Amino acid sequence: MSAPQRKTDIGPPHYEQFLPPVIKKNYGDWKYHEQLAPGVMVHVANSGDKIFSVRVGSPRILATDSIRDACAIADKYCDGYLRFTSRNNIEFLLSDESKVAPLKEELKNKGYAIGGIGYRVSNPVHTQGWVHCHSACTDASGLVKSMMDELYEYFAEKELPNKVRLAVACCVNMCGAVHCSDIAIVAVHTKIPQVDAAAFKNMCELPTTIASCPTGAISPDPATKSIKIKQEKCMYCGNCFTVCPAIPIKDPDRDGVAIVVGGKVGSLRSDPKFSKLVIPYISNEPPRWPKAVAAIKHILEVYAKDAKKFERVGEWIERIGWEKFFDLTDIEFTFQHIDDFTFARDTFRTASTFKW
Ligand code: SF4
Ligand code: SF4
Repeated sequence: MSAPQRKTDIGPPHYEQFLPPVIKKNYGDWKYHEQLAPGVMVHVANSGDKIFSVRVGSPRILATDSIRDACAIADKYCDGYLRFTSRNNIEFLLSDESKVAPLKEELKNKGYAIGGIGYRVSNPVHTQGWVHCHSACTDASGLVKSMMDELYEYFAEKELPNKVRLAVACCVNMCGAVHCSDIAIVAVHTKIPQVDAAAFKNMCELPTTIASCPTGAISPDPATKSIKIKQEKCMYCGNCFTVCPAIPIKDPDRDGVAIVVGGKVGSLRSDPKFSKLVIPYISNEPPRWPKAVAAIKHILEVYAKDAKKFERVGEWIERIGWEKFFDLTDIEFTFQHIDDFTFARDTFRTASTFKW
């Protein structure tokens, strides 16, 4: 039995240790919160205590020097307290209101982008991309940087009908929150994995490779002591490549991105929603992805113009109807929209009332 004070490196330390004292003191006893300026918010407790949050964007994959710099700023103005949001914004947390203005000034002078609070776009949640993951069919950091350079005004100033959550996942394994974001990019492979039978014998296990396929497309191939893949069952997810490096799926000329819209996590006004496919394929165009970025901005601006106040993207589309969405955005409706992957039957309304 372990000693009461035993310290291990297993699991994260309890989050309570890192709460600012004012949050600890008023835990579960908050009265309201409000936005004071783009990127600045105050939470007020029933006791009258206040905590101010100043939010800045971050590229998510951060250099040690950047983290040190953010920590030094937090030490100077926030008694050392900051947090990273689930969408990789950095929030500086202050209980002293008089330090908010100087903090903002220093952040601006150092080139931090303040914003992302309220009815705006927030920092996009995104995945590893070519920098880090072997399954990636697009970059994530480069694509997000290109997208946010173009959407900066919607992060820092301009208001939208409601908040807009963006996401990028660099393959359909989807480590990002693409399925439940308002507008999102999910990268797609476009052909089945190529089996290297000679390498398979040395690098992969047959049972785990077969079990890795969610559609049952992989079966043993006794003739080559390897596997075969049934083309019509494969949805190019790349899951098998993750467990078996001898069946690469990457193709620099054909990999690209799809755009999905209308997802949300919150249950305010309407139930949480899954995103749905609207653009099935745009080819990769590094380093700035002009077509994908233009498509995202176009959807955002049509939403900004046509949605009613407080409508999230998915709520807006449900009110006007998907037919009208394709009409307003001038996005081509293709066969992929009817049934994007063979086993996903609920892409759009499946009733005969869908008029395409
Ligand atoms: S989304 Fe896919 S490619 Fe990107 S980090 Fe996750 S598993 Fe890797
Ligand atoms: S890419 Fe996905 S669907 Fe295709 S064989 Fe591999 S695991 Fe199965």
